[in-house]
Amino acid sequence: MSSLTKAGSLNQDKAACSTQDFNSQIDTPWLKGSLGAAFLPKQSTLDNKEKYFDVIVIGAGLAGTSTAYALAEKGKRVLVVEKQSAPGKGGSGNPQGALYNKFSTEFNIQTKYALGNLVFSQTFYQDLQEHYNLQDQTNEQFWSKCGLIQVAWNEKEQKKQSELLEKNDYPEELLTQLTPEQASDVAGIEVDHGGLFFRNSGWVAPKKLCQQLLKHPQIKTQYNTEVLSLKHDEAKGLWAICDANEDVINTAGNIVVCSASDAKALNQLSHLRTKPIRGQVSLLNTDTLKDSKLRDLKTVLCGEGYISPEHNGQFCFGATFDLKSQHCDVIESDHTHNINQLTSWFIEAKKNLNSDCLPLLKGRASLRCTSTDYIPIIGKAPIYEKQIEQFAKLRQDAKHQFDCEGVYHEGLFVNIAHGSKGLSSCPLAAKYIASQVCNEAPPFTEDILKIISPSRFLIRSLIRGKI
Ligand SMILES: Cc1cc2nc3c(=O)[nH]c(=O)nc-3n(C[C@H](O)[C@H](O)[C@H](O)COP(=O)(O)OP(=O)(O)OC[C@H]3O[C@@H](n4cnc5c(N)ncnc54)[C@H](O)[C@@H]3O)c2cc1C
Repeated sequence: MSSLTKAGSLNQDKAACSTQDFNSQIDTPWLKGSLGAAFLPKQSTLDNKEKYFDVIVIGAGLAGTSTAYALAEKGKRVLVVEKQSAPGKGGSGNPQGALYNKFSTEFNIQTKYALGNLVFSQTFYQDLQEHYNLQDQTNEQFWSKCGLIQVAWNEKEQKKQSELLEKNDYPEELLTQLTPEQASDVAGIEVDHGGLFFRNSGWVAPKKLCQQLLKHPQIKTQYNTEVLSLKHDEAKGLWAICDANEDVINTAGNIVVCSASDAKALNQLSHLRTKPIRGQVSLLNTDTLKDSKLRDLKTVLCGEGYISPEHNGQFCFGATFDLKSQHCDVIESDHTHNINQLTSWFIEAKKNLNSDCLPLLKGRASLRCTSTDYIPIIGKAPIYEKQIEQFAKLRQDAKHQFDCEGVYHEGLFVNIAHGSKGLSSCPLAAKYIASQVCNEAPPFTEDILKIISPSRFLIRSLIRGKI
């Protein structure tokens, strides 16, 4: 587990996760510079027809299970190796989460990336739920297209939403503006603010989704198995995953590391810049709210924090952001925080939730993994030393013209740092990894490939003279 790079109060943490901050964290000059896309990996993966598993995926959270599924859909034989006893025991283990992206007012590259993720994931979950329902009528629900309202809960948010609508021309199928009356109508419950309505969004049950994705017949799983190192046999074109004794657990032509913050423990990936952010959701049994109108809630509401409609007899709301601690104990102060943020803008929550509820609340705490620029890290892993050698001239000249290519570990991929938006970003990230393994065109444009590239940190560090 990585150590913390930055301390901060709960409020600072939230600020650090705002869309505005995402934007300021990405210094675009290097994206537009003369380096162009030279450092991005070129296609060519190993031909693994002879091997039993084509791909080993490390980690069975949202990133790992979606990647395994995307590869399995391409006909690959996939082994998912997980250190815990079941899928969805890390950051992806919450009973419910919101399929949500907050767009910035300017249509910049991050907005373009977020938009693609959101639209793709909405369709992906809908199709997947229908597919499994067809196969099995008793199939449990992991997705609800119940809609989501981004509530304009204070003046700042109202101003941002108006600006967003003025500057952009989003289709109605994606988002529409609601008055407080319309919002109440859509939500089935009094909401005393208007907001943006994402009709095709809703909630996902992440843990259930992970379990479901692994049901693909091309996927095998191996639990209680911690991968602590990777070895490459270049001659055979094989990667080995190894345990604490450096004994080989299994081999395959391609490895996809989806182990969130633990990815950095692998030698080949120790240069990646990630940090864990602890978070807790609160769960309230709906039996305790017998005649409450809260139970009429029909859509996900996101303001300061979020709440989803009742599912399996409970409400799930949250969540906290804490960069200082890395424990996963459920704590009362986080429940208080979740209640306070929800009741600050949601009138029906205010009528039902207060400190008297604290003894009734259950919860779940886990760690999100985020990158230092708050964008996921997805793609082929660079060979750190060789990449630095290749682009060393950036130290003296950030505008140097290169006629060489980036140097990458053939067959080693990474898909981590989905932060607080994994439900939205994992499905398309998985498609991208599958496209790379299968030598197909990526589902992203080059500008997006650059901002998600695992090489971006070393390129930026070279330009800044930090390495
Ligand atoms: C409180 C909270 C609320 C959230 N709410 C939302 C929300 O509403 N909407 C949203 O989109 N996102 C939300 N998120 C974020 C979302 O859950 C994450 O983005 C997502 O879970 C990331 O998935 P992952 O697979 O990258 O990580 P994880 O789920 O953490 O998976 C990593 C897996 O790798 C395994 N692993 C680690 N090391 C090894 C190893 N060496 N060998 C084998 N296995 C290993 C771990 O055990 C784990 O299962 C929330 C997160 C939290 C914590």
